[in-house]
Amino acid sequence: MMFKKIALIGIGLIGSSIALAARQQGLVKHIAVSTRKAATLAEAESLRLGDSYTLSAAEAVQDADLVILCTPVGAYGAVMAEIAPALKPGAILTDVGSVKQYALDVIQPLLPEGVHFVPGHPLAGTEYSGPSSGFAALFKGRWCILTPDANVDAAAVKALTGFWQALGSSVEVMDAPHHDLVLAITSHVPHLIAYNIVGTVDDLANDTKSEVIKYSASGFRDFTRIAASDPIMWRDVFLTNRDAVLEMLGRFLVDLDVLHAAVRDGDGPALEALFTRTRAIRRSIIDAGQETAAADFGRVTPPESD
Ligand code: NAP
Repeated sequence: MMFKKIALIGIGLIGSSIALAARQQGLVKHIAVSTRKAATLAEAESLRLGDSYTLSAAEAVQDADLVILCTPVGAYGAVMAEIAPALKPGAILTDVGSVKQYALDVIQPLLPEGVHFVPGHPLAGTEYSGPSSGFAALFKGRWCILTPDANVDAAAVKALTGFWQALGSSVEVMDAPHHDLVLAITSHVPHLIAYNIVGTVDDLANDTKSEVIKYSASGFRDFTRIAASDPIMWRDVFLTNRDAVLEMLGRFLVDLDVLHAAVRDGDGPALEALFTRTRAIRRSIIDAGQETAAADFGRVTPPESD
């Protein structure tokens, strides 16, 4: 038992996965669940994700040793204004948001004396949302990045590190701006590209679009998984990590111009050289255990229909 009471503010994919994994590992005695909408709270209760349920975030955090914000990043200001007076001195406050400097900027000024804020970001997720999309194994074998300020209590960082390790993750500590830059290229820009290509298809004339859907398995389909991710969460990522995303997007556009020229000029060696490099990158992701080596992501071919 690592914590007597944890409070989950927001109980979608990430919140419900934490609840299930923490329970499975016996890390907590009491899980308090809070969310904004009554229907979401009722769903969480029917799934038995917690021990107590409330629409009041302030009520949920009372006496909690660990409070985890699991809402979209854009909700942090309002949530903090509500919970700050109710946080217990000595409690650890953390979050799971995809952007870390923004979390520090919004939360730190509202932090009561004696509460330790250790921002966090589990690099684990799917394209599904809501309380029923969570599963206990989500964090197994994945990274969780913590971005505490230099003067944060080391014991709080250690306790949160232990918590994520017990959920199955490896933990890395880095500063928030570095996190935001790395994630801009590994996650945020790839999502933007996926949203863009799927949007382009959606704008095509209807007869072409139906062909794209029909033959989607030739590549397009893999973009649609990413582009099916939660619109609110991703809107907030691009609103709150603007500078890092623009920097990485700038580099991407320069490289795209080079590729555009190679295709236009029929520059076979340039194309082959890039595609050889990128194949090696995929190999190293597989070797690092972050992807399956099975062909087509291990998808099973659906039975032939007649
Ligand atoms: P989700 O499934 O959509 O769940 C979001 C939760 O936040 C729901 O309980 C929702 O409650 C609540 N919420 C939404 N807007 C709110 C608001 N304005 N005020 C208060 N509560 C609000 O989202 P998720 O995928 O779990 O993502 C949660 C956080 O994890 C985000 O900050 C995201 O950046 C981060 N993250 C996501 C992934 C991923 O792949 N999905 C991976 C790593 C980190 P109601 O239904 O009651 O509104």
